[in-house]
Amino acid sequence: MVLTHGNLELLEKLEKDIKDTEDMTQPISPENSIGRVSRMDAINNKSVMEASLRNKISKRNKLKLALSKVDNENFGICVNCKQNINPARLMYMPESARCIRCADRS
Ligand SMILES: [Zn+2]
Repeated sequence: MVLTHGNLELLEKLEKDIKDTEDMTQPISPENSIGRVSRMDAINNKSVMEASLRNKISKRNKLKLALSKVDNENFGICVNCKQNINPARLMYMPESARCIRCADRS
């Protein structure tokens, strides 16, 4: 499985990214020192960061899922037509068990 090495690196990067994003979603302190407007900004930023965090976590989980399947000899092979699934597709949708053509047809 050619993707394994790249996937592991990507996973590491994502884990780090998730940590950094988590740091940015810490509770906003209620003190007035940053002012009302900045506080509003901080709250807006926080929800953006939280959305992005959820996104990254779900990506990470998919990637982990993909990596856990790498040892499976059927990984990367379309369950429908038994052709290899495009590696680019597997990177983005590692949970996909069908190639693009078969997925399009359904
Ligand atoms: Zn197929």
